[in-house]
Amino acid sequence: MSDSCEFLERRRAGDDAEFDGERPYCTAVDAFVQPMRADVCAKRYGLDPETDCEFYREAKGLGSITGFEGANGESESGTEEAGS
Ligand code: SF4
Repeated sequence: MSDSCEFLERRRAGDDAEFDGERPYCTAVDAFVQPMRADVCAKRYGLDPETDCEFYREAKGLGSITGFEGANGESESGTEEAGS
């Protein structure tokens, strides 16, 4: 197991930002990492991108963290949720 997420890089500049020093950059979403997510990216405190980051899961085709496929959890067809 590596020390950090495989999508994590360090960059000074992105498409719309440039910094004096290097910052954590996520290549899964092509954006600088938000500070609140940095612990997941660095796998600190037992956090793991595979189970704790929706961007990682989307990039790997692993599905939603919550198990719900829709953004609002509602079924468009009106049928019962599958899963039993
Ligand atoms: S935001 Fe998610 S996918 Fe991107 S580097 Fe961090 S843990 Fe990895």
